[in-house]
Amino acid sequence: MTRSFLDVVEAWNGESVVTTFDSATGAWMFVALHDTRLGPAAGGTRMASYPAPVDGLIDAMRLAEGMTWKWAGVGIRFGGGKAVIAIPDDLGDEARAGLVDRYAAHLVSLRGAFQTGVDMGTTPEDMARIGAISGYAVGLVDGKPGDPGPYTARGVFAGIRAALAHRFGEAAVGARSVLVQGLGDVGFPLAGLLAEAGAALYLTDLREDAAERAQARFGGTVIPAGDIWDVDVDVYAPCAVGATLNPDTIPRLRCGIVAGSANNQLLSEADAERLRERGILYAPDYVINAGGAVAFAAIHQGERDETRLRAQVDEIGSSLREMFEEAASARESPLHAARRRAQRFLNANGGPSAGAR
Ligand code: NAD
Repeated sequence: MTRSFLDVVEAWNGESVVTTFDSATGAWMFVALHDTRLGPAAGGTRMASYPAPVDGLIDAMRLAEGMTWKWAGVGIRFGGGKAVIAIPDDLGDEARAGLVDRYAAHLVSLRGAFQTGVDMGTTPEDMARIGAISGYAVGLVDGKPGDPGPYTARGVFAGIRAALAHRFGEAAVGARSVLVQGLGDVGFPLAGLLAEAGAALYLTDLREDAAERAQARFGGTVIPAGDIWDVDVDVYAPCAVGATLNPDTIPRLRCGIVAGSANNQLLSEADAERLRERGILYAPDYVINAGGAVAFAAIHQGERDETRLRAQVDEIGSSLREMFEEAASARESPLHAARRRAQRFLNANGGPSAGAR
């Protein structure tokens, strides 16, 4: 049964949702502001068609909350927000371009309460346009779309080192083996960093040519996507799709550490405990994959020095190390330590909450 708009808003623990109907296209725009105690909200804009507009609203709310934890988890003073533009199935290119312009004008009317970047269904070119019209796009470097992938990969690399140090007492990657699943915008540069540090690489991608391209560049062994659970490795780095950690796959894992960029790696929170019971160290996805967000937040605030940007991204490793230690002494999953750390940062740095939490 489709839930009503009011029921959905009533059940939410966030602050507010700015809702606009675009009569020219029939699209709905939902800008969900989950928690703005740390600062103006920032998060991606997703453009997709949904079974019903209310499903787009639910998606916006869920993703906005994720952004609250992401920013607080890495100690960045942005609020949690996300926008969804729920479009009709048959939206043509011209109509889409007009919609993007009106969405940018909508952000102008919010006067910086929400700043945005790319998400599913939107492109770096959309963001350049939105930035030019509104000034509220994140991820632009001097007006041009930037590529977050290499920064995200750097953050994952720092996270892998932190996990190795915690699990094996030694951060060095050289003597270790890593399975990189997904050799796209993040996985490819991650494989490069790992190869440079001397790791034994196992590479897998649904598109075998992508894995082979990485192998030609960095060496390593290509594993067919169906065979990944048969490989013994120190680190499994999921850098493709979500939900690869679930009750079916966790018993089959043959690794000591899971540390990769994919969003929503756990099918459910209970899988964090399943990993812990198997003695596998899990680096919470929304922390280890924050490198792009960290770098773009700094660039947005005027930072251009590449050495300082990299140093900020590398901090993800230190944050994870602390989370691993806290989790170990509390005998719990790092997922819970990450949430507590984010909550502490929010409480210490945020003002009074405007939401109903
Ligand atoms: P991408 O689309 O550039 O690359 C993904 C790669 O994974 C592709 O080569 C694809 O063929 C492969 N793939 C898809 N399904 C697969 C499967 N089941 N098994 C093996 N390979 C598969 O994406 P990306 O930008 O590199 O992002 C990868 C993941 O990291 C995504 O979950 C994304 O949400 C997350 N993430 C990315 C960034 C970033 O900066 N790009 C930041 C945070 C999180």
